[in-house]
Amino acid sequence: MDNLHNASAHLQELDSLHHLHPFTDSAALAKTGARVITRADGVYLWDADGNQFLDAMAGLWCVNVGYGRKEIVQAVSDQMLQLPYYNTFFQTTHPPVVELSARIAELTPDGLNRVFFCSSGSEANDTVLRMVRHYWASMGQTKKHIVISRENAYHGSTMAGASLGGMKPMHKQGGLPIPGIEHIMQPHWFLNEDSSMSEAEFGEYAAAALEKKILELGADNVAAFIAEPVQGAGGVIVPPDTYWPAIQKICSEHNILLVADEVICGFGRTGSWFGSDTFNIKPDLMAIAKGLSSGYLPIGGVVVSDRVAEGLERGGDFNHGYTYSGHPACAAAALANIAIMQKENIVEHVAAETAPYFQKNLTELLSHENVGQVRGVGMLGAIQLVPGAKSKRFKKTDVTGVKCREHCLENGLVMRAVDDAMIISPPLTITTSQIDELFEKARRSIEQTFS
Ligand code: PMP
Repeated sequence: MDNLHNASAHLQELDSLHHLHPFTDSAALAKTGARVITRADGVYLWDADGNQFLDAMAGLWCVNVGYGRKEIVQAVSDQMLQLPYYNTFFQTTHPPVVELSARIAELTPDGLNRVFFCSSGSEANDTVLRMVRHYWASMGQTKKHIVISRENAYHGSTMAGASLGGMKPMHKQGGLPIPGIEHIMQPHWFLNEDSSMSEAEFGEYAAAALEKKILELGADNVAAFIAEPVQGAGGVIVPPDTYWPAIQKICSEHNILLVADEVICGFGRTGSWFGSDTFNIKPDLMAIAKGLSSGYLPIGGVVVSDRVAEGLERGGDFNHGYTYSGHPACAAAALANIAIMQKENIVEHVAAETAPYFQKNLTELLSHENVGQVRGVGMLGAIQLVPGAKSKRFKKTDVTGVKCREHCLENGLVMRAVDDAMIISPPLTITTSQIDELFEKARRSIEQTFS
């Protein structure tokens, strides 16, 4: 154990000297040292000191098929020996990218048949921004350039991704958002100040904010509305049932493209292949990443409707692309990942068996006096912690979540804290007994947080 411990201390020291972490206060991290994760299998992680954790976040919402899938490793290895890299620029293609494009077209909702590849969710949303503007320009409507998004949305960390996102701490750094992006309210019923509104009324009200914004800007100036079917990083905000039908209607009445950011919701997370299926959304464009390869290799994409594809074709060259657009090894990883999901009927199994069990356990946490609300759909959940005596309304403290997260780690559980909400998004392969373990540890951690 001592050797292991020394190994971990040495890595922590080098890490703090040379590695700048994402979304991290480096000076604060240097004092504690980073957690060194060395191994993973199924739904579990191990650190350099041999501690085991149930990974209730599937990495960063991405390891949908679980860790240790040899089929993916083999497919990538075979592909790397055959053709480790070639680009898809200059009228060139290769078998894995062709096969993956066709497979995605089969899985995505009707009418979405073409894919533009990139390496991440952020790049997918950068592509979305350029694509919707180029689409309207190709259609002779050059004024239609503004994209409307939502406060507290997450669409990535590049200039366009962070600007499309509605995270205030991100906008504070580096002069964001970039011009041509507007934000409306999020459909977060629990945070809504007006308690006289029912959830259904609130859904309509939050959707009406989109129409108001379109009218204010002029529909002739608005290219698209972008939203996650369920806001993930914002705190697993499941919109009221009335929200998406109203949004869909507004976009279609004002001729605004609807972009579903499926980076988290895609590939089974909500109990269907896509969040758009679960919420009956008919998007014109879909951003995908994460679950596309279960995070085994970085790959993302934008899937577009026939309408958008035809419009883009009118515009000649689309002057956009990445060296790694459709990278063969990443495409092979995605194909092997999708093959596992289909062979094991993972989406169907989640919908019929494990998601209902997961949601039942989540709902039972409401009996705890410090749980003000639970939110969830499919294999996504949020536990809204409320300090002090039980109150339906949220009292923001910002520290309770972090405290709870620390207790979770002590108890061998990885959960994420978003303000005072604890977020859960485990591998889709989690079993019912592992769900029991997850909630037993979560309950214990909540107890400790408030004791
Ligand atoms: N969109 C959504 C909805 C996301 O949750 C994320 C990442 N959490 C992104 C985009 C950005 O993806 P990436 O980190 O791969 O750039």
